[in-house]
Amino acid sequence: EFATVSDLIRGHAAERPDKPAMIFEDKSISYAELDALLDRLAAALQREGVGKGDAVAILAASSIEYGASFFAILRAGGVPAPLQPSATPAQLAAMVADSGARILFLDETGIKALGDAQVTAKPVRLEALEDFLAPQGAKPAPVTIGPDDPFNIIYSSGTTGTPKGIVQPQSMRWIHIARAPGGFGSAVTMIATPLYSNTTLVSFIPTIAWGGTAVLLGKFDARTFVVQAAKHRATHAMLVPVQYQRIMALPDFDRFDLSSFQLKTCTSAPFSAVLKADILARWPGLLVEYYGMTEGGGTTVLVCNANPTKLHTVGVPLPGQDLRLIDEDGKEVPRGEMGEVVGRSGAMMTGYHGRADATADATWHDSDGNRYIRHGDVGRFDEDGFLILMDRKKDLIISGGFNIYPSDLEAILITHPQVSDCAVIGVPSEQWGETPVGFFTGPGAPADVLAWFNAQVGKTQRLADIHKLDELPRSAIGKVLKRELRDRIAA
Ligand code: ATP
Ligand code: MG
Repeated sequence: EFATVSDLIRGHAAERPDKPAMIFEDKSISYAELDALLDRLAAALQREGVGKGDAVAILAASSIEYGASFFAILRAGGVPAPLQPSATPAQLAAMVADSGARILFLDETGIKALGDAQVTAKPVRLEALEDFLAPQGAKPAPVTIGPDDPFNIIYSSGTTGTPKGIVQPQSMRWIHIARAPGGFGSAVTMIATPLYSNTTLVSFIPTIAWGGTAVLLGKFDARTFVVQAAKHRATHAMLVPVQYQRIMALPDFDRFDLSSFQLKTCTSAPFSAVLKADILARWPGLLVEYYGMTEGGGTTVLVCNANPTKLHTVGVPLPGQDLRLIDEDGKEVPRGEMGEVVGRSGAMMTGYHGRADATADATWHDSDGNRYIRHGDVGRFDEDGFLILMDRKKDLIISGGFNIYPSDLEAILITHPQVSDCAVIGVPSEQWGETPVGFFTGPGAPADVLAWFNAQVGKTQRLADIHKLDELPRSAIGKVLKRELRDRIAA
């Protein structure tokens, strides 16, 4: 017998029926209401033929109905496949087909995202869930689930290309739930990134699994975040770096009472040491950074409060995580040298859905034949075993035979007083193979910033050009989309 998240929700409904499970704007749902809704929704899904292991897709903005449909799919024995509204209509249609979903939960945001793409799944509107539900009192047939069964399919962020369907098994999510940081049942967790993202689900699922309260937010706004956090006496939040940056830039940040926070976490993109230090100084409670990926493999953790001299790192491997660094030939590099991160742990994807080729490409084996997942990121361990992350392998610039790490150049560029945000990419060059080009936002004049920058660095690191933008292109969870920057140069 294997306890499911659904069993836990039943337990909370019995133990704390009136406690809010989710809050969104002026609406909330208690655990008793959620549990009853899950029964009716799961029974309806089974009526539609959803059984053990069947995917059900969701394409919507965060809402209570979104959260409920996610857990109802699980209760029916199905496999939620949350999709990202930022994908193109063609990609979305491909993801629905790839998942094999017969039902697609949709809202207004999802309809817009789909455009005129034709999907094979039956659409069910989240705004009209009442029409879909099984009658009051209906119960789904119980389904036996084991640790190797799929929990959900998460399409990768698509930062570097077309999203791939990552099948995460029950055992992997249980590790996320088990390591969910402190507070457990008493957590009031701010959910400030969209529900479809793994970054969000790693805090949303444990919050509900342990009977806490999830405060869902719509499109991110720094002021709304602090107002809502103060109002609900929030204890936990998983925010991405650009959100921290915007929150800390609020001119009246220090006037909000955020003393209820026990733990703030961060993941998904480079998190600057300066920003971490600012948060430590002005926002009470623990600040913890995670480095990892949706595929699982290896995860590192940095407890910022306890490691003020290591803020430039992403921390050390979590217990039970085996992280190594390999070179181009797949050989481990000596300690202290740069290499591609590979990782192995109990929390690993089963594989990419229907993509044995991509799964094989993302796999590395040690000499004993153990399976590791290739992270596609380059980094090195410092003398104390803290991982210093450089760049994604795909973003490295190879210029005249030299490896140039964009993150090294970005770290210098950002120190210009008139640069507020920046990115460096490699562009094709006849002479050098590739050459670095910069992008920045802020009041600086491009010619001045370029001249200043090129005076700071060695010849090989000089920028061939620099472009000023109003904003850097970012994904819905705040990752800089370097492929879009490359496309702009190519266009
Ligand atoms: P795709 O694989 O589709 O290109 P993605 O890699 O952005 O998308 P995710 O699984 O959401 O999809 O993100 C994992 C990646 O995010 C890591 O490989 C790493 O590049 C980056 N990342 C995660 N945590 C951190 C961190 N703490 N610091 C810097 N980068 C991070
Ligand atoms: Mg990835």
